[in-house]
Amino acid sequence: MTSEAPKTKFIFVTGGVVSSLGKGITGASLGVLLQSQGYSVTIQKFDPYLNLDPGTMSPYQHGEVFVTDDGCETDLDLGHYERFLNENMTRANNITSGMIYQRVLNKERRGDYLGNTVQIIPHVTNEIKDQILAPLKHKHYDIVITEIGGTIGDIESLPFIEAIRQFQFENKDDSLHMHLTLVPYLTSSGEFKTKPTQHSVKELRSVGITPDVIVCRSLMPLTTDIKNKIALFCDVSNDAVISAVDVDSIYDVPLALKNEGLDDVVAKKLSITTKPQALDEWSSFVDVLHDHQLPVMKIALVGKYVNYSDCYLSVVEAVRHACIQEKVKLKIEWVDSEKLNDDNYVGYLSGADAILVPGGFGERGVEGKILASKFARENKIPYLGLCLGMHIASIDIARHILGHTDAHSSEFKKDSNYPVIALLEEQNNVSNMGGTMRLGSYPCKVIKNTLLEASYQSDEIHERHRHRYEFNNAYREEFENAGVIFSGVSPDESLVEVIELTDHPFFLACQFHPEFKSRPTNAHPLFTKYIEKVKTEALLNKSATV
Ligand code: GLN
Repeated sequence: MTSEAPKTKFIFVTGGVVSSLGKGITGASLGVLLQSQGYSVTIQKFDPYLNLDPGTMSPYQHGEVFVTDDGCETDLDLGHYERFLNENMTRANNITSGMIYQRVLNKERRGDYLGNTVQIIPHVTNEIKDQILAPLKHKHYDIVITEIGGTIGDIESLPFIEAIRQFQFENKDDSLHMHLTLVPYLTSSGEFKTKPTQHSVKELRSVGITPDVIVCRSLMPLTTDIKNKIALFCDVSNDAVISAVDVDSIYDVPLALKNEGLDDVVAKKLSITTKPQALDEWSSFVDVLHDHQLPVMKIALVGKYVNYSDCYLSVVEAVRHACIQEKVKLKIEWVDSEKLNDDNYVGYLSGADAILVPGGFGERGVEGKILASKFARENKIPYLGLCLGMHIASIDIARHILGHTDAHSSEFKKDSNYPVIALLEEQNNVSNMGGTMRLGSYPCKVIKNTLLEASYQSDEIHERHRHRYEFNNAYREEFENAGVIFSGVSPDESLVEVIELTDHPFFLACQFHPEFKSRPTNAHPLFTKYIEKVKTEALLNKSATV
């Protein structure tokens, strides 16, 4: 007799009162708690905007674009999901209104609805309901958590809300609705205000949904009286009002929500069992994160979106994970590359223990990044370049070691007479901007006796890409003669994936984005090696100056 997999349970997460309350982190934290109980969990995000994906949006509007193994450009919450659940996401985990409408319209053209008027209900809502089940097509999960982007009351999220209302009605015993709100605290009168939460739940109920659990973001822990008041007005049980107090780090959230009993109340309502379970590994990670005795490492992150740290979210998290593994305290020094010039770059960069140039698009700030690479290289400061950061390092080497003063990437200078970075051949006839880059996971051959090999301890690795430009093979020999090692190449050796320098403690730049694969309790080997070197160098320098 084969034992049947337990029925999948569905949890929907919506937000009210204001945006940016952290639905992604809250959903992912609940996922961590349920996973620790032995349940298999996946999370998906439904984004109500009309773009097919965030790939063409400005980072100012949307923050980082997170790339999955299967080459989907997704919302940055998918990064939180991967990091919190230690699970790879796929294109089934991020659905936009644009994708839903595109599917419906393709079906309409194909004649799938012949004879019918195509409408939001049922055609669009059916398509959304299908997508709730999409993660289950290839794998069983005990729990699917679905986060709806935006705030209750938004016009554009209405079809999603209607679809989950129908889905919950059709799967009454197997679904749960968690609503995240804000409970302001008025310091002048010293009281919490529950009215915005009441209004938000009223809005939700006007579209036919009564939440099962209300998670309340607040500055201070809610009192029992306030929780009971919210429960009474919003029709949920007292234990289903969860206080989510502001915490220092996103990694504190699972522990804080566990203290509030979120997993128990969710399990009770979904009729699944839980047992007392400590989050040991997670707690030890958080303990190191908050250890203020550790030596501080200053990493200069040189980019053009330095006032919008969400644009470099995965990079910062990957460095953080590695710092925790190496037991050092991370201090990011945000350096605006647009401000750097020949006269001031030494001043901006000389206090840093390491330099990191992340990915990016467009010419703005590029010259400042090239100066950062030069500074790191000449002063033997550990340098990590990611994607554009590799292009930058290559331009620096071409200009300042090989003497090709006009060297550039053809992304920025079409008529450079030394285009050290050039368009990938496959990109030549690409005219559409959306979803057409070299995207997703590709294998990379690791050359022996290199820093890359020492980092990964493997002869083949798989990393995620998102780029159109690539190292120009015409200059490979000249670079090699100057001491550059191409330590990572595509399996057929036609593409350079990693460059490094030997006469330097750590100068490595890669075409891929290793940051997407780092996990809190499983730091990425490349970042770990980088921080290990940063630590050694910083301690050496310190003892040299004593
Ligand atoms: N703009 C560069 C390219 O398209 C680098 C991209 C990136 O850093 N992700 O190739």
